[in-house]
Amino acid sequence: MHRVAPATDTPVRQESLRAHNLSLTFRQIVGAPAPISRIELAVATGLTRPTITRIVDELLAGGLIVEAGPARSGNSGRPRVGLSLAPTGPAGLGLDIRVDALSACVVDLTGTVRHLAFAPRPPAAADTLARLADMGRAAMAAAAAEKLTVVGTTLAAPGPVENAGVVRFAPVLGWRDVDAAAALRHALGEVMVDNDAGLAALGELYASAPALRNFVCVSGEFDIGAGIVLEGALLRGARGWSGSLGHVAVTADGPVCACGATGCLQHYAGLQQILAPAAPAAAPAPAVAIDILASSGDRDTLAALDRAGTALGVALSALINIIDVDTVLLGGSYSLLASWLTEGVERELNRRVLTASWAPVSVRPAPLGPDAAVIGAALSAIDRVRQDPNSWLARA
Ligand SMILES: [Zn+2]
Repeated sequence: MHRVAPATDTPVRQESLRAHNLSLTFRQIVGAPAPISRIELAVATGLTRPTITRIVDELLAGGLIVEAGPARSGNSGRPRVGLSLAPTGPAGLGLDIRVDALSACVVDLTGTVRHLAFAPRPPAAADTLARLADMGRAAMAAAAAEKLTVVGTTLAAPGPVENAGVVRFAPVLGWRDVDAAAALRHALGEVMVDNDAGLAALGELYASAPALRNFVCVSGEFDIGAGIVLEGALLRGARGWSGSLGHVAVTADGPVCACGATGCLQHYAGLQQILAPAAPAAAPAPAVAIDILASSGDRDTLAALDRAGTALGVALSALINIIDVDTVLLGGSYSLLASWLTEGVERELNRRVLTASWAPVSVRPAPLGPDAAVIGAALSAIDRVRQDPNSWLARA
């Protein structure tokens, strides 16, 4: 009666099968571009009509879906009721540590941003987690006022993250092996921590779906990071550390980097490094400062931007020759500087990517820009319910 194949070759108990079929059906509603009827769900899942009816009742009672009202079906003319995701119920909370600010974001089950707030980044790095906890609590309260319940939190952090909670190395925050998840758990419950560049790519993927499926989103935040998306999925790597583009060498014998290597991209295209010739002191909002200087015609800044665009293009060409994506998104703070960087990046890609003469790589500013990481973090938190709604139904 069911065309459902269990994921393992062990016997499936009745309760597991129910949960499996419920997840399967729910993911069809999640993936549907428009409200979907019970009949369409039965066809798409291969489940029987009575089974679909029971599952839909359960999802409706749990507040995960809503009936979208009668719509005329094509042939019979009989009214059918479309089903879509509920705008209330479970929500995901994202937090992000940016160069110029801290941010918090709540998205609902439909992926809609319902709350987005910013606060200054405390001068003392040690205060950062306490401020984030306050912002998270405020975001949860704002969500509750809209009948949303935060079911999970993801923090976007600079630098490589281990075991979904420990930031291994973030020199600009003075962090080494900081268990950020543990520090936030008391205030916010379960917290996952992930790299900001990868989460930014997830945010951009969601915003551009389904048109964009293979791209690199390069973000110039504290460290230059690249979120690599292949066939609609983030390439995480064996330990989740992929995308440290800032420490790819663009010259073998360049200046010594903070990481200990020489000639890293970071030295040529990091925001503070672009700004340094014109404004040697670190600026709180470097991308804005760079844009103002460049717009005023400051020659040092324009030369630094040209150098940055070239270096980015060199590093990205090496990456693209290996992984074959068709699009580069200038993300994060780079999205604000795209008009200054794009030409240099394109020039180097056209020179160095083997296939560029007949299939040029598209280079453009990322639509979500600096907000992508916090939105991607919130989406990754709600995605756990979108993939498996059973835990929400159990608690509801
Ligand atoms: Zn380096």
